[in-house]
Amino acid sequence: MLKNISNLQATLEKLLTTQQGMNAEGQVADYIPALASVSPNLMGVSVATIDGNVIGAGDYQVPFSIQSISKVFGLVMAMNRIGDELWQRVNMEPSGQPFNSIIQLEWEQGIPRNPFINAGALLVADVLTSHFSTSKLAFLTFMRSLAGDEHIYIDNNVYQSELAHGNRNAALAYLMKSFSNIQAEIPEVLSHYFTQCSVAMSCQQLAKSLLFLANKGLDPISQHNICTARDAHRVNAILSTSGMYDQSGEFAFSVGLPAKSGVGGGVIAIVPGYGVICAWSPPLNTFGNSVVGTNLVSGLAAELGLSIYH
Ligand code: GLN
Repeated sequence: MLKNISNLQATLEKLLTTQQGMNAEGQVADYIPALASVSPNLMGVSVATIDGNVIGAGDYQVPFSIQSISKVFGLVMAMNRIGDELWQRVNMEPSGQPFNSIIQLEWEQGIPRNPFINAGALLVADVLTSHFSTSKLAFLTFMRSLAGDEHIYIDNNVYQSELAHGNRNAALAYLMKSFSNIQAEIPEVLSHYFTQCSVAMSCQQLAKSLLFLANKGLDPISQHNICTARDAHRVNAILSTSGMYDQSGEFAFSVGLPAKSGVGGGVIAIVPGYGVICAWSPPLNTFGNSVVGTNLVSGLAAELGLSIYH
């Protein structure tokens, strides 16, 4: 692994230049209209290491909608709050379906395949809504403390847009409620879920915030235990099998890192024992993963030999 930070900086700059023009191969998400107004030409990449370096290139300090990357943080909060009981209500298997699919949920009696598809994240949102008096504030506070930045905010424009176009997520939540797998009122669950998806953060902030997953649950900056080593292992395992939705198999095959994408164009990848990569570019491929973001993570992993399967 590359320990020399100035070499790493040069590597990030070089990788970005290889991606100029590649964003034309994807489409910015427009099913949430507020996301469609983001420039497709923005791109950035950041690396945070557990020994304290945080570097980046391109638009790595520009906040973007974290969207489904929020599912990682929500899951950690729910695991910390209710422990193994969570795994009675959500599984840990890849879905083999698009992230917002509803078909499987009916067959499998309202138990989502994993916490990183929308149904699973809505289940987690229900746990948070039911177990925190103010779950939205608790989520924002968690994000601010992990990133060490009180300025992290919820983008209200994105939130309103998700709420106005959230029929499919509402359908997933109501279907789970019909199987008694949702406890809180659906509007509250949706409001929590859309709030966490609407948090705006930069590549640099996200990379820093996830260092605990590369370090057995311990945040190397604050020295706080964010989760147990066992739970960090479990989150990384599900990220490896399900974090890139229906492209997770190919991503494991070609890159080999636990990773999570969001329809805002962000991709995070955990390198256990080393650090976190976060890349961002809004245009998405057909799986809902950022084209350039995926290429940047993949390029860096190949260049530095980061696969966990070596
Ligand atoms: N808020 C988005 C949705 O519910 C999150 C999806 C994603 O980032 N893949 O559709």
